[in-house]
Amino acid sequence: MNAKRIARLKPYVPGEQPRDRQYIKLNANENPYPPSPRVAEAIIDALRDPMRCARYPDPESAELKCAIARMLNETGGVLCRAETANRKCSPAERDVLPFTVTPDMVFAGNGSDEVLSFVFYAFFDSDRPLVLPEHTYSFYPVYAGFYGVPLCTVPLAADFSLDADALLAAAHRTDSPVIFANPNAPTGVAFSRDALKDFLSRCPRGQAVVVDEAYADFGGESALPLLRDFPNLAIVRTLSKSFSFAGMRLGFLVASPQLVGTLTTVKNSFNHFPVDAFAQCAGIAACEDAAWYAGTARKIAAERERFSAFLSGDGWQALPSRANFVFARRAGTTGRGLYEKIRAAGILVRHFDKPGVSDFIRVTVGTGEDMRALQEVLAHVERA
Ligand code: PMP
Repeated sequence: MNAKRIARLKPYVPGEQPRDRQYIKLNANENPYPPSPRVAEAIIDALRDPMRCARYPDPESAELKCAIARMLNETGGVLCRAETANRKCSPAERDVLPFTVTPDMVFAGNGSDEVLSFVFYAFFDSDRPLVLPEHTYSFYPVYAGFYGVPLCTVPLAADFSLDADALLAAAHRTDSPVIFANPNAPTGVAFSRDALKDFLSRCPRGQAVVVDEAYADFGGESALPLLRDFPNLAIVRTLSKSFSFAGMRLGFLVASPQLVGTLTTVKNSFNHFPVDAFAQCAGIAACEDAAWYAGTARKIAAERERFSAFLSGDGWQALPSRANFVFARRAGTTGRGLYEKIRAAGILVRHFDKPGVSDFIRVTVGTGEDMRALQEVLAHVERA
């Protein structure tokens, strides 16, 4: 055993998935709505050919990458834009990409966590620190430890937004790559497209900039239209959230064919077949029904706005979210205390025991019914 290497690992802790009782689950940013009915049909169809199970899948997920590229071109990058988050939008209101995403710009993996692991291996190294916000997706430091990448963490601005100037100053100081989530996690606060463009144009040109858009479909602005202008940009996406695929495990990355080629070399040196045959069929079916997911993303965005307004009206500070969760705190209460009381009432939310955010809870936006149940509980918790 390589005890030194093992001792360095600090495994990621996901939102709990308890089996002891039925909870309303608002702790893992899962989608409360089922995937498109076409997904189950596609899996059942694939199962009818038993050799699908007996043979290895396409190692390059070629058809899936075509379907992802088509979906991105059709939607313009996100399922639900900020301005149209609360209503049905016509195709004319969607973003039109200034170029066509081609399948060779897409890399597919076993969930975006796996895609991120390949990104860490391929684009970051031990020679220079990776610049990232202090509060962001907590898997990044885990992979950094795993691959021996030193980190330079940059505090968020006072309003919990990404501090672009401070991130850029750090990146230039060491000529470093940068990673962040947009909308950010666990805050939900997002960079606008203009802010992103300005940021990218000021980043070190020779280093990768990785934007994790796990939550962009709920009303964020994607960096996708900027991809052609910034060959060092890589965009990571997941189907776990907006496509209701957390159990299926499918994530992808969009970047230049060169960067995708590099990741493919890494993949083929690690696991030739990360996306199984059924996930490939399911993913294709999902991408072919983007309208279904635009509908559920809009419902979630509308519920998020309602819930945020409820919190603000009730004395909470809810950060402005463009994701499928709300990060909020209430003066006079601790995050852990709130989390525990809400859990005792049968609802799971997430608490991060980390200086600077430990008085917040993160609430995944569920169905209207879920959120009303939570509001009831909060009313009792406050009176207690
Ligand atoms: N990025 C961010 C910002 C996330 O919050 C998550 C979900 N935990 C992921 C990536 C990973 O998603 P998945 O592996 O399910 O695709």
